[in-house]
Amino acid sequence: MAKVTCVLYDDPVDGYPKSYPRDDIPKLEYYPDGQKLPTPQKIDFKPGTLLGCVSGELGLRRFLEDNGHEFIVTTSKDGPDSVFERELVDSDIIISQPFWPAYLTAERIAKAPKLKLVITAGIGSDHIDLQAAMNGGLTVAEITYCNSISVSEHAVMQILALLHNYIPSYEWVVKNGWNIADCVERAYDLEGMSIGIVGAGRIGFAVLKRLKPFDVSLHYTDRHRLPESAENELGLTYHPDVESLVRICDVVSIHCPLHPETEHMFNDTLLSKMKRGTYIVNTARGKICDRDAIVRALQSGQLAGYAGDVWFPEPPPNDHPWRTMPNHAMTPHVSGTTLSAQARYAAGVREILECWFDGRPIRNEYLVVEGGKLAGVGAHSYTAGNLTKGTDEAARFKKE
Ligand code: NAD
Repeated sequence: MAKVTCVLYDDPVDGYPKSYPRDDIPKLEYYPDGQKLPTPQKIDFKPGTLLGCVSGELGLRRFLEDNGHEFIVTTSKDGPDSVFERELVDSDIIISQPFWPAYLTAERIAKAPKLKLVITAGIGSDHIDLQAAMNGGLTVAEITYCNSISVSEHAVMQILALLHNYIPSYEWVVKNGWNIADCVERAYDLEGMSIGIVGAGRIGFAVLKRLKPFDVSLHYTDRHRLPESAENELGLTYHPDVESLVRICDVVSIHCPLHPETEHMFNDTLLSKMKRGTYIVNTARGKICDRDAIVRALQSGQLAGYAGDVWFPEPPPNDHPWRTMPNHAMTPHVSGTTLSAQARYAAGVREILECWFDGRPIRNEYLVVEGGKLAGVGAHSYTAGNLTKGTDEAARFKKE
């Protein structure tokens, strides 16, 4: 029997919801590329309920306990005194979400001799030291595609929010104002602009598709070029590298994973090559951008705005400069954990666990690391190496 330790975010401050704004969510069977949605034998939750917080337990408790497994659920994940640090020493399986990542460093992996399987309930497994996972023979899997469309919608929303100066305008309403000039002195239309996508995978491609009707000029860079038919259908211009892309774009939306090739890709040097007044939206990973370089570029006006929902570390300490930098429209890491997405990734985690316990293979597209090397989506989208840090800094976050 296995010990499964699961790190999830806190319940809402007013307690676990008793009702929801809507009674159901759309039933989908396939993702846009034909991949089938998760196919667990059964689920023990109602799709559309809050599953990603501690009381939601990803809908797994009955399944795990009925099968004789031990199931630990905690929010306490950072620093040496955390519950996670204590429980991982005899855990067989660890589950966490990128929105509240259990940083699984090499030191922590070394403390967990029984650990075999690490599941990301979501997409993006950079909170795990993938090199240490490869060296230790662990399997790392994520729920590929579960929230890619959710994130693409959020990215489009944040592009429009920045350009149309939505959040400051909303704030004038709440302050009883009617300050049209204050609202519009930074407001522009997207129409006619050049938009650049870094990483045209599941999310990046969905953003391109969604932006097509805005009558913009669409550009992308990726280490895998899209098929000619896709480029023609959307009228895309391919750039062999990110420098060539950013030089001509008015808006850049980042959608590649965080791995050694992409860490701090957006640093002072790259930012200085962009047109003055470019907007960046980053819903990929915080560390793809150099934190302080972004602040400097907003302060100088080199960037007109920055938005996204990913930070480093997560949660960011209270004095993280992105909380207070000018002209930002950041949210906490929420884009991939809509109630719609939660139903998909909770079912995906269940599917992976069922496969694992039954000795059946996990779907190749879910694999990040297996058998000592990158596999599945990991082999396609990541490079080997490690850049998982952050747990000590995240421990400085204090709820207020
Ligand atoms: P994907 O694997 O389908 O696409 C990633 C793309 O990035 C691939 O096409 C890959 O070739 C490309 N890429 C890799 N290295 C690159 C580089 N150096 N330069 C340019 N392109 C590069 O994954 P996806 O579903 O589109 O997700 C992408 C990332 O978005 C995830 O890895 C994760 O970090 C992030 N994400 C964030 C959230 C959120 O809630 N904010 C949710 C899901 C995923």
